Amino acid sequence: MGLQRRGDHWLWVGGPVPPGSDAITIWSVVSVRRSCAASARLLRHEEEHVRQWHELGVFGFLRIYLGSYFRFRWRGFGHRTAYRMIPLEVEAEEAARRATAAPPAAAAGPAPAAPS
Ligand SMILES: [Zn+2]
Repeated sequence: MGLQRRGDHWLWVGGPVPPGSDAITIWSVVSVRRSCAASARLLRHEEEHVRQWHELGVFGFLRIYLGSYFRFRWRGFGHRTAYRMIPLEVEAEEAARRATAAPPAAAAGPAPAAPS
């Protein structure tokens, strides 16, 4: 599949991903494992990281991301917990959860009129 343009970023299916991860986003490139490329939730999570990279800039993103991670590690949290507590990860998870949650019935709009 390779590199595909997706709005404000590129999706690289089968691109390089760190061991133990399903995907990674660097600036405007989302690299995802082939086996995870169909996950709407994962892709929405990574799209939120694209937005964060663009909003914060390279130094802003890395300062918050790595700074938070190492601060949590310093406080004694394990890798997985420290990673999940990074504010940018919490925000991306929240965006993914919102986007893939079943919409409440009211959000679906008015019920179609009954045929007469
Ligand atoms: Zn993430």
